Amino acid sequence: MNASVDLASLAGDLRERLPDATSEGASFAELSTYRVGGPVAVLVRAKDVDALTTVAEVARRHRPRLLVIGRGSNLLMSDAGFSGLVVVLEGDFEAIDLPGSGTGESESPVVRAGGAVPLPVLARRAAAGGLAGLEFYVGIPGSVGGAVRMNAGGHGHETVEVLRRAWVLDLVDGGGDPTPSARGVVDLELGYRYSNLRPSEVVTAAEFTTTRESPAACETRVAEIVRWRREHQPGGQNAGSVFRNPPGDSAGRIIEAAGLKGLRVGGAVVSDKHANFFQAEAGATARDVLDLVAEVQRRVAKTSGVELVPELHVVGDDAGET
Ligand SMILES: Cc1cc2nc3c(=O)[nH]c(=O)nc-3n(C[C@H](O)[C@H](O)[C@H](O)COP(=O)(O)OP(=O)(O)OC[C@H]3O[C@@H](n4cnc5c(N)ncnc54)[C@H](O)[C@@H]3O)c2cc1C
Repeated sequence: MNASVDLASLAGDLRERLPDATSEGASFAELSTYRVGGPVAVLVRAKDVDALTTVAEVARRHRPRLLVIGRGSNLLMSDAGFSGLVVVLEGDFEAIDLPGSGTGESESPVVRAGGAVPLPVLARRAAAGGLAGLEFYVGIPGSVGGAVRMNAGGHGHETVEVLRRAWVLDLVDGGGDPTPSARGVVDLELGYRYSNLRPSEVVTAAEFTTTRESPAACETRVAEIVRWRREHQPGGQNAGSVFRNPPGDSAGRIIEAAGLKGLRVGGAVVSDKHANFFQAEAGATARDVLDLVAEVQRRVAKTSGVELVPELHVVGDDAGET
């Protein structure tokens, strides 16, 4: 991506073609669960594939730095903000298609969901329709696109187990027509909180394989997960697990064993409820969170020799992007 992109000209081109969808200087804080971070140079909200294709045509001309944001539940944006183009999906991308319940149907019914569908909504809709397998998503406050990108998982399950295929549109490097193309689960090389998707690739939709069960059984599992999350994880402003779990261990356990629950830098604090969750309190800055991340890494390395690796994606102008 080109650092000398003329962002005013990029915004002008987008505004001309997508006037209601384009804004300049939007607050990143409003796009993420941490609710911190500086301004976004250019934000475009694409409501359907046509709009996203238009975004791709403009992006290919200007080649700005790109960031696709889902629910912003795994992102920390720097206080300096982002001097590039942020793309958010909405509208058509929030649709869920459940299979019918007629006789002769497949034993592995397929649920299709747009890239912007919130995972808890997907989990509850599938459960209510007696489609089992997606219940674990109820505790993960991301989007379908974010779940594919991150291979999100919890409660013993991961996206790779239920994903059938995803539709991906490359905003800059696709070659030819910028339209979404299907990518099988194997092609995405999903690993622990990893896929091979590039920053310019947008997941527009995904298909999940489920099994038939009674809605009551599915909804009971959903309710159990919600209860477990309330008991074990804090609410408020955070982005879930800050660090990846080292092989065979848990980052939360290691941080707690180092005596770091409650450790504070400015308005950022290690949660008392779950040591791998860092809370941003009112008035916190991204710098506070970043400094707390570095301080926890330093102290854990000193006490246990473990090098904790962030799961959180740190993005923005003065942040080393991960
Ligand atoms: C309270 C809490 C609990 C959590 N628990 C879990 C958990 O149990 N398991 C777990 O795995 N995660 C958990 N998370 C983290 C987070 O919810 C997941 O990583 C989720 O998959 C991120 O989805 P998102 O839409 O918020 O992505 P974002 O945070 O918006 O983005 C994350 C990454 O995905 C990319 N991305 C987002 N949307 C798209 C798209 N449409 N196409 C392509 N790329 C996209 C972004 O560019 C970025 O690289 C938790 C977070 C919170 C706040």
